[in-house]
Order: sequence, then C-alpha cells, then structure tokens
Amino acid sequence: MNVHDSEQLTELLKGSGYVRTDSAKEADLIIVNTCSIREKAEQKVYSQLGRYRQIKMAKPGVMLGICGCVAQQQGERLIEKLPFLDLVFGTHNIHRLPEFISRVGKTGRPVVETGFHETVPSIGILAPPERGAVSAFVTIMQGCDNYCAFCVVPYLRGREESRKFNDILAEVKALADGGVKEVTLLGQNVNSYGKTPGNGHSFSELLRAIGGIGGIERIRFTTSHPKDLSDDIIDCFRGVKALCESIHLPVQSGSDAVLARMNRKYTSADYLDCVRKLRGACPDIAISSDIIVGFPGETEQDYQKTLDLMGKVRFDTLFSFQYSERKGTAAVGFDGKVNPDEKRRRLIGLQSLQDLHTREKNDKLVGKTVEVLVEGTSRNTPQDVMGRTRTNKIVNFAGGSDLAGTAVRVRIVDAFLHSLRGEMLD
Ligand code: SAM
Ligand code: SF4
Repeated sequence: MNVHDSEQLTELLKGSGYVRTDSAKEADLIIVNTCSIREKAEQKVYSQLGRYRQIKMAKPGVMLGICGCVAQQQGERLIEKLPFLDLVFGTHNIHRLPEFISRVGKTGRPVVETGFHETVPSIGILAPPERGAVSAFVTIMQGCDNYCAFCVVPYLRGREESRKFNDILAEVKALADGGVKEVTLLGQNVNSYGKTPGNGHSFSELLRAIGGIGGIERIRFTTSHPKDLSDDIIDCFRGVKALCESIHLPVQSGSDAVLARMNRKYTSADYLDCVRKLRGACPDIAISSDIIVGFPGETEQDYQKTLDLMGKVRFDTLFSFQYSERKGTAAVGFDGKVNPDEKRRRLIGLQSLQDLHTREKNDKLVGKTVEVLVEGTSRNTPQDVMGRTRTNKIVNFAGGSDLAGTAVRVRIVDAFLHSLRGEMLD
C-alpha cells in the first residue's frame, strides 16, 4: 500500500515538473513515506531523516518532507523534534502535495497537514506503472474499521471506505489497454469491499467483473480478513480464470484465547474451515499468512497452538513478527506482557518450523511445469530473468530481457527457500 502511495505521489509531482531520481543526492525534493505498524519501522524513519538532513545542509534549497503513518501520528511534534523538515503530511493529504510545496516555496515556513477527510481524495489518483511494466497496484478501499487490539491502522488511515465499482473497473481497463497483465487489488481488508453504505457491489462481484476485462491475465488481492472470507469469494477461485491460485490470509495466532483478546472475531477452527474450503475450490492454492508472537498474555501453550495450526495448514510462506506495543491501541492496557527474550525465542522457533514447510512446498514443485510471468532481468545474474508463478513463487531461469512482460512455460529443476530455478520450455 505504501509503495502504491509513493507511485501516486510521483504521478502528482509530474504535474509540477518534477522527475524521479533514485539518487537522494541529486534530488531537489525528498519525501520519506513512512510506516508505523511496528516500532522498528518507525525508528528506521528517524535514522533515514538524519541522513537526508546532511544532504539538505550541503545543498540549500532542497525540500525535505515526511508523509504516511508516522507523519499522521506525530504531526507538529515532528517539526519540534526535527526543525529542518519542510513538509509533514498525513495519510489523507497525499493529493495536496503540489499545493504544500508551493506554500513552503512562498512562505519559507514548514507545512503540517494531518487532518482526516470524509472521503480519501487520493483514492482516485491514477498512477500507471512505469512504461513497459506488466503489473500494477489498484486501490479498491482505504482505511479499516476492525480495531484489532494490536494495530494502529484504524487510527492512522481512518475509517474504511470502498472505492466506486465503476471507477475501479475504468482504472483496470485503462491499465490493460496500456499493456498491464497483472493487477493486485489493495486494501486493508479487501474482502469486506462494498460494505461501506451506498456502494452496492460485493468483492466477489468486483473479482468477476475484473476477470472479464480483456488483457488482464492475473488478478491478486491483499489483504484478506478470515472473518469476511465468504463462500462467494472462495467460489471465485473456481470461476474466475484470471484469479491467481494464491491468497494471503493472516491468522495472527493459533490460540482462540489470544485471537479473542486480539479482537480478530474468528477462532482457529473457523480459520481451518476457510483453508479447507479454499483448498476444496482450488487444490493448488498457495496460502500465506501473518503471525504475531508474544501478544500480551500469550502463554507457552498458546504459542504451541500456533505451531500446531501451522502444522495443520502448512503455509507456503509466512510473515512473522514479535508483538510491538503501539501507542493508542487497546493492547497497551493488557496484562501479561511477554519479555523481549521470550518473544525472540518464540519467533525463532516459529520461523524455523516455517522454513521446513516452505522448503517442503518448494521441493514438491521440482519436475513440474508452471506458468511464469516474467518481470525482468534477475538481480544477481544478468543472463537470467526472474518472474513469478501464479502461486506467487519467484522463479529464475536463463533468458533475455525481451521476455519481460510475457507469460512462459517453465519446468522447475531446483528449489531453494526463497526461490525456484527453472528451464523455459516455450
Ligand atoms: N489488514 C491486515 C490484516 O488484518 O491481516 C494486516 C495489516 S498490517 C499492516 C500487517 C501485519 O502487521 C498484520 O497482519 C500483523 O501481523 C502485523 N502487525 C500489525 N500490528 C502489529 C504490532 N503491533 N506488532 C506486531 N505486528 C503487528
Ligand atoms: Fe489492522 Fe488489519 Fe486488524 Fe485492520 S484488520 S485493525 S489493518 S490488523
């Protein structure tokens, strides 16, 4: 979501005559787009701003700004702490960046804007991917109303709002006309799409409609909440050809007591039921998840229940985190804080188990033929190209950069923890 917000900022700035550079030293304007989901992400921002301050001091006239969740949370306090900043703007004010730049230019004083709007105006900013890119992000909703006890998102991204059905279809159509073959639909909880009053269309209707747009070969979405994964959505894995055989379905914990305290509104049995139905509709579906260890009150038995659930599901990949206390969330007031060493031990144990499962899944693909959508040259070996299977696994194989953007058949010859090696058949 943050990557897409940055794409939108880049698009907006084109209108003010800016061009993108990958070198901060060359830049006249540096915007740090931030995340504050965990404390570590937030700390990184401060060290990065310190480095950019050096650039600003060496080159007067450079404007330095911060946006996203840290900006939303800290607002004015950031200017007090870091007086060299020119711009601080929150998650609902992205669309006003050109106006903010001209205000700083005219007044020489910093601008701070962190207000919330009823409707998020940036939802409609079209940010086509770079020329030649085959994949694009499409925002279908903003904000979140779920209030999981550990999470800052509802406080920093505002109320849940679904984007208009026809606007989404028009954007996907325009992307397809421009050569995009794969779209990833974005939202904090995409499968509750359409629940905002007055929208009138469900997520499954949206998937079916996008599946009917010529040129779109692959549809992905992120993130889904297990409590809103309806049979109708699961059915799309049978009926919508372009829908990739892959889903990210965060479980967070395998213990019902922890899930209840997290305010997730499902049990581990409900989650396993979702997995059973998904595999019934689509036997080869790849399932990935998020898990938090060391949530307040999590006992050794609770932790073991999470490992048990992992054994039952056997995720393809997993994003796992130590619980990080976030100001303003309900869990701040919970008893039973788990000490940092114990959280680390649990995370290491869980990650080693997941590594076994990931290897097991990848090893099973050796000898199989898969469809790979080529993204471009491999990062480390220029004579190879890199692409992804429909199940979202990275495959490297020998091939020229002219393959970028094409879907080819590849036989898998070797498997590693984070990628696969293949040979092109076409
Ligand atoms: N909306 C998604 C959902 O409900 O699953 C997740 C969005 S959040 C940006 C991504 C992941 O960060 C969560 O699934 C959770 O595992 C993790 N996360 C969120 N808050 C956290 C916290 N305070 N400490 C550790 N991990 C956290
Ligand atoms: Fe955060 Fe996701 Fe829960 Fe919303 S559903 S509060 S974004 S974890």
